[in-house]
Amino acid sequence: MVTCASRLDSNGIPLLSKDQLERHGERILHAFSPAVLENPQPTDLDGLIREMGFNQEYQYLSHNKVYLGLTVFNDTDMLPVYNPVLNRAEFISVKKNTIIIEGTLAENPAYEHRERFTLGHEAAHGLIHAEYYKRKAEFAGYSDTSVGIYAKPSFPDLSGVDVNGKRLQGEAWLEWQANYLAAVLLMPKAAIKKLRNQIGPEMGGYWHIELINKMITVFNVSEQAARVRLASLEYLTI
Ligand SMILES: [Zn+2]
Repeated sequence: MVTCASRLDSNGIPLLSKDQLERHGERILHAFSPAVLENPQPTDLDGLIREMGFNQEYQYLSHNKVYLGLTVFNDTDMLPVYNPVLNRAEFISVKKNTIIIEGTLAENPAYEHRERFTLGHEAAHGLIHAEYYKRKAEFAGYSDTSVGIYAKPSFPDLSGVDVNGKRLQGEAWLEWQANYLAAVLLMPKAAIKKLRNQIGPEMGGYWHIELINKMITVFNVSEQAARVRLASLEYLTI
């Protein structure tokens, strides 16, 4: 079982900043599959989600793909999904601890990187945000809305602060944490260092292009995800 305790703020959001998420993610990977830290390779997200004790399902979440994934923390009979045959929304029953991914992401190989990042993002919610959603459901008086919704990746928010240098608040902070932890799980720092060390001096100033290409292939991630990860580690600026 992959779990990690951390201190929470008054809303139940873990007090995990960038450096702490790096260590947290590394501990999780170490418990799940130490090989991904030693031999750079794609993280088995399906396996990680199973190890977390979560189920994984594919559903059409909306008619326009505004939601790519969500995490259900409490049993519900009222999760709205889209039925493309009838072209209408309907409600389905979902057990607690289920990660649901937008079905179209699995149907088209062009969306593979997006699917993997979404799985990583939802796994991160499952790993660190269960307490927040549990409290939110209690406060609202019902459990049906305790889902973590992933709208758009907030890639440029590298350090979790807003334009004024103030820490993001509430669910913006929560979403930032999920994106950051997803990037750590998909592209562990230790593995990136090993890839960097494989690049010889003949690449000169182009070493970072080579490193990005290696990351895309080895971790099975998008170029954008690789660039943002390197920027967050201060290997390059974007
Ligand atoms: Zn999210």
